[in-house]
Amino acid sequence: MTTKPNLLDTLPRYRLARLPTPLHEASRLREALGGPARCPRLFLKRDDLTDLALGGNKARKLEWLLGDALRQDATVLVTTGAVQSNHARMTAAAAVQAGLRCVLVLTAESASPEVQGNLLLDHLLGADIHFVDAAAGEAAEAAKVQKVMDRLAAAGESPYPIVLGGSDRIGTLGYVDATRELLEHCEEQGIAPAFLYYASGSRGTQAGLELGARVYNAPWRCVGVAVSGGDPEKTARAARMANEAAQLLGVNVALDPAELVTEQDYYGTGYAEPTEGATEAIRLLARAEGIFLDPVYTAKAMAGLLDHIRTGRIAPDQTVVFLHTGGVPGLFGHARRTEAMLAEAPAARG
Ligand SMILES: *Cc1c(COP(=O)(O)O)cnc(C)c1O
Repeated sequence: MTTKPNLLDTLPRYRLARLPTPLHEASRLREALGGPARCPRLFLKRDDLTDLALGGNKARKLEWLLGDALRQDATVLVTTGAVQSNHARMTAAAAVQAGLRCVLVLTAESASPEVQGNLLLDHLLGADIHFVDAAAGEAAEAAKVQKVMDRLAAAGESPYPIVLGGSDRIGTLGYVDATRELLEHCEEQGIAPAFLYYASGSRGTQAGLELGARVYNAPWRCVGVAVSGGDPEKTARAARMANEAAQLLGVNVALDPAELVTEQDYYGTGYAEPTEGATEAIRLLARAEGIFLDPVYTAKAMAGLLDHIRTGRIAPDQTVVFLHTGGVPGLFGHARRTEAMLAEAPAARG
C-alpha cells in the first residue's frame, strides 16, 4: 500500500474525530437492489461513526477550525444553524473537548422548539443557546451573531466565529484529508470507485472532496446531492472555498464551478422538508444493512443514488462509494414527520 503524502501536516489541528472511519461494503443493499446483474458494487464510508457526540462530517471540519481557534487563543466558539443543526451540536461538543465555551444562535419556527434530537444534545453539552425566528431571514441571524460577538468581547472573552456548517477554507481541509484516508482504504480493498456520492448543504464537504480528489488523483467523480436550493451561488462558493484551501495548502489547483456536479432533483420542497424518496431510503438502509440515515441530508442523497442506480445511470460493473455524513440525531428531532411519511410510503421497491 502506498501512503499518500499528508499535505496538511504543517497546519494546526485539534484532534476530535475517531479516525479512520470504516469503509463498509453494502452487499445486502446491493442484493436488495437486484444484485450484481443490476446494481453496482456499493461501499459506505461511515463518517456517521466519527464520534464527537454521535458523529458526522462536521467532526472533520472542526478539527481544523479548532486548530485555528486555539492558535488565536479563543475562549468561546460562536456558531449558527437551524434548530436541528448537526453542526451546532458538534461545535458544542468540540468546545467541551477543547475546554472552551460555546454560544449557538439557532433559527427556529417556534420561540420554544421541542427539546429533542440535536437540540436536546446542545442543552446537555451546556451550550448557551439563542433563538432567532426562522422567518426573520439571514440578516436577522447575522445581526444576532454580531450582538453576541460584541457582548462577549466586551466581557473580556475572545470569541471565535464559525460560519454556517463550518464551511470556509479552513473547514474545507477536513474533506481534503478524508480523501487521502478514503483512497488508502480503496487501495487496501483493491477497488477504484467510479463515483463518490454525498449530501451537499453549505458546501464545505464538496469543496474538500473536490480539492482532495484533484490533489490526490482520485479515480472517482464526486456527485453531490443538494439538500436545499441556492444554486448556482452555492456552487460558485464551493469552488472559491476549494481554491482558497488550495492556497492554504500551497498546491497549484484551480477549480472552475462548471466542473462541480450537484444533483438538484432530490431535496423536494426545501431544506429539512421530508420527501418520499428519502423516507424510502431510510427504511431500505435500516432493513438491508441495519444502518440509519437521517431525513435531512443522507436520506436525500441516498434517494438520489438509488434513483441513478435504478435508472441505469451507473452501470452494474462499476463501484460507488456513498459518504455517510451522519446526522442521525435528526431522526429523533424530525421523528413526527418521518413517522407520518413512513406510515404513508409504499414499501421499498428493491
Ligand atoms: C452538514 C451536513 C451535511 C452537508 O455538509 P456541507 O459541508 O454543509 O455541505 C451533510 N450531512 C450531514 C448529516 C450534515 O450534518
